[in-house]
Amino acid sequence: MKISNSEAWFARAQEHIPGGVNSPVRAFRGVGGVPLFIARGEGSRIFDIDGNSYIDYVGSWGPLILGHRPPFVTDALREVIECGTSFGAPTAREVEMAELLTKIVPSMEMVRLVNSGTEATMSALRVARGFTGRDLTIKFEGCYHGHVDSLLVKAGSGMATLGIADTAGVPAGFANTTIALPYNSIAAAERAFAEYDDKIAAVIVEPVVGNMGCVPPAPGFLEALRALTARHGAVLIFDEVMTGFRVSFGGAQERFKIQPDMSTFGKIIGGGLPLAAYGGRADIMKKIAPLGPVYQAGTLSGNPLAVAAGLAMLKYLLAHPEVYETLEARSAQLTAWTPPGVTINRVGSMFTFFFTDRPVTDWESAKRSDTGKFAKFFHFMLERGVYLAPSQFEAGFVSAAHTEDDIRHTVEAAREFFDRPV
Ligand SMILES: *Cc1c(COP(=O)(O)O)cnc(C)c1O
Repeated sequence: MKISNSEAWFARAQEHIPGGVNSPVRAFRGVGGVPLFIARGEGSRIFDIDGNSYIDYVGSWGPLILGHRPPFVTDALREVIECGTSFGAPTAREVEMAELLTKIVPSMEMVRLVNSGTEATMSALRVARGFTGRDLTIKFEGCYHGHVDSLLVKAGSGMATLGIADTAGVPAGFANTTIALPYNSIAAAERAFAEYDDKIAAVIVEPVVGNMGCVPPAPGFLEALRALTARHGAVLIFDEVMTGFRVSFGGAQERFKIQPDMSTFGKIIGGGLPLAAYGGRADIMKKIAPLGPVYQAGTLSGNPLAVAAGLAMLKYLLAHPEVYETLEARSAQLTAWTPPGVTINRVGSMFTFFFTDRPVTDWESAKRSDTGKFAKFFHFMLERGVYLAPSQFEAGFVSAAHTEDDIRHTVEAAREFFDRPV
């Protein structure tokens, strides 16, 4: 496989961009080697600048549930671009988007659009604090909620990949407002509430974790968080930036039938453009300026292009519920075998091959994975035209554009890896 163009651009990139990338996990530090520079995408495939083609299981880290460049999304963008790219004034599509979102996610009575998942979780947390008049937050080890100062404590995704437990640059005063507990431990959550009780503003959780690899909630875990927060007057925030419109059209809250007080969305919501949202109960959301005292704003919030792409995406999914059956079937096809020494976790079209033979239920068990072996697997697959996330601690995504042939090729390549004499 020739990647000399990627190599040359990566060398250039490192001169003026830290690590050569605009987001750390893209740098391939978890697997070694040179990140591929991508020229274009089409359906289930991406093409690098050396002309190699790959079946893509990253999907821009989650947004591309219908694959690259679905025509109705590019058509919507073309239509809007004729009218302007940004006004900083209300537009009709933002209202349509809010109406659609509150219909798809009934726990969300009111919603604000922002530009990234990070902004969504940061804002949701601020509103939860403003609403409760409390400061502390409970989060779970290995969950990632964007690069919000107070939430970068024992966080997943790139922090897990790079082995950074707690980032530099966050004042202790911020980090100390966060209580990090083991995922799936009801006992730990009960103990924290017993100890801090009416100081806890919010519990924020990935209802299915994607950011330490895919880890499903244990039976009763989300129910326990719902009951505990209700009993103690804390706000339950489901961070559905990854799971929203992914594990079910209505997100994990629909799949597991639990109503959080607030939710955050990103990734799929923007159809591949920078868009995210946070929302929840009306009494909580009415604390936001100009109605209330909690300030949150954005020059490009509700950007016309991003909203048009997102609306096109969500309307398509609304009209085509069978997409989720296809995703389930393709994902089952991909994971319907157990390689030796590997634990496969999957919820809907999110999956991870963990290189450990023990069950993975939290960060302690995820980090037992053999990351060296994962790195070998990653490069073996890349050589065979399969593009996986370049880290053990990320979820893979199947899209509706993946064909049975794509999946068959992927499974055959993976089997070849595990059948090799070591
Ligand atoms: C990706 C992600 C975020 C951060 O979103 P950005 O758009 O990258 O800021 C937050 N929470 C979860 C669960 C995510 O997967």
